[in-house]
Amino acid sequence: MLGLLLQHGDEISHFAVPVPSFDRPSAQGCGKLLILRRRMETTKMRAISNFEQLQRLLAEPKKIVITMHQRPDADALGSSLALCLFLQKEGHQVTVIAPTPYADFLKWMPSNSDVLVYEDEAQHEASQKLVAEADLIYCLDFSCINRVGHKFAADIQKSDAKVVLIDHHIDPEDFADFVLWDHHASSTAELIYEYIVLSGGKDEVDVAIGECIYAGMMTDTGSFRFPSTSANVHRIIADLMEKGLDHSRIHRLVYDDNNETRLRLLGFALSERLEISYEYHTAFFKLSAEDLKRFDYRTGDTEGIVNYALSISGIVFAAFFSEKDGATKISFRSVGDFPANEFAGKYFNGGGHKNAAGGRTEEPVEEAVERFKSLLPAYKEQLDACVDALPDMA
Ligand code: 5GP
Ligand code: MN
Repeated sequence: MLGLLLQHGDEISHFAVPVPSFDRPSAQGCGKLLILRRRMETTKMRAISNFEQLQRLLAEPKKIVITMHQRPDADALGSSLALCLFLQKEGHQVTVIAPTPYADFLKWMPSNSDVLVYEDEAQHEASQKLVAEADLIYCLDFSCINRVGHKFAADIQKSDAKVVLIDHHIDPEDFADFVLWDHHASSTAELIYEYIVLSGGKDEVDVAIGECIYAGMMTDTGSFRFPSTSANVHRIIADLMEKGLDHSRIHRLVYDDNNETRLRLLGFALSERLEISYEYHTAFFKLSAEDLKRFDYRTGDTEGIVNYALSISGIVFAAFFSEKDGATKISFRSVGDFPANEFAGKYFNGGGHKNAAGGRTEEPVEEAVERFKSLLPAYKEQLDACVDALPDMA
C-alpha cells in the first residue's frame, strides 16, 4: 500500500477499498498519485501518496494529450474538454484525442472543434505523433486500457509520457503512473472538478469548463436521479451556477436536439423490438444492422433507449442489443443489487458499473439474444430477490 497522507484526522479504515499496485517498468521512480474520496458527506477528499510529484511535473509547460473511451459519451468528452480548458489556462499545450467519432448532440461542447479523432484517417497520423511526443497523457472515464481500442492502447503504452488515469469504473487496470479513482463518484466529471480544486484551480473554473463538467455529471447520473447523485454533486453544481452556468441550456443541448430519424428509431424499437420477460423481471431491445440502416442510424442515436426497458414496472434488469460493424454491442442496466457488470463480464466480454454496464460479442444479434435468454433462468432467484428488495419498484 502506498504512503498515506491523512487529513482531517480521518481513520485509515475508511479506505478499506482495494488499492491496486501501480508499478510498471517505464514508471519506475516516478511515483504514483492516488486520491480516494469518502462518501461521508461532511469531509473533503484527501490525497494519498505524492500528488506533489505530479504538480511538480506540471510546474513547467508540458505537452499533454487527453483521451477517453471509444464512442465517448458526455462524461468522457465533457471531462476531457473541461480538463483541457483548465490545463490550457495553466499554460500547457493540450490536445484532446477521441479514439472514435461520437454523437452529434455532444458537439456543442466548448472547444469541441479542436478535438482530434484517432480513427479518422485524416487525423490519425497527427494523433499518433501527439501521443508519441507527449509528456503527459490523461486517460479519462475508463479503467481498462483497451477501451481506447487496441491500436491506440499500444501507442499510449509505447509513448514515454507519464500516464494519469482519472476514472470511476471498478477495478482499474495497472497501466497508469498517477491515478485519481473513486468508483463511488457519480462521474469522471465530478472527479475532474475535484482534481481542478485540488490543483488550486477553483478560481480558473469558468462557464465553459462548468458546462463540460455539468454535462458529464448530468448524463452519468440520469439527470441527477441515480443513487450516485450525492450531496457533493449538488454542491459542485451550486459552485458552477455561481460561476454563471446556465444549467437549462445544457439540458436542452443534450436532450432536445433529436433529429427525426432518431425519434422514429426510438418509436420503432418501442413498438416492434421490445421483449419483456415478466418471469425474470427482464426486458430487452434488439436491433439488427438492417433496422439501424432503415432509420439512417448515426452514432449516439440509440443512447438511452435501454432505460425505457428498465422503466417498466417490475423490471429490474434491462438490455439493449444492437448489431454494429459485424458484431453485437450490448448495454445492460439494472436496479438494486443485480450486478449488471458481473453479468456483462462473465458472458459478454464487458464490464462497467453495477447498474450500468456494457459488452460486445462477435455473434449476430439473434444468437446473442438467444444466449442471453438462456442465461436468465440461472438468475431467477437473484432477480426475484432484487424485486423483493425494492417493493416500491415492483
Ligand atoms: P453504455 O451502455 O452506455 O454503452 O455503457 C454503460 C457503461 O458500461 C459504461 O459507462 C461503461 O462503464 C460500461 N461499458 C460499456 N461497454 C463496455 C465494454 O465493452 N467493456 C467494458 N469493460 N465496459 C463497458
Ligand atoms: Mn463516466
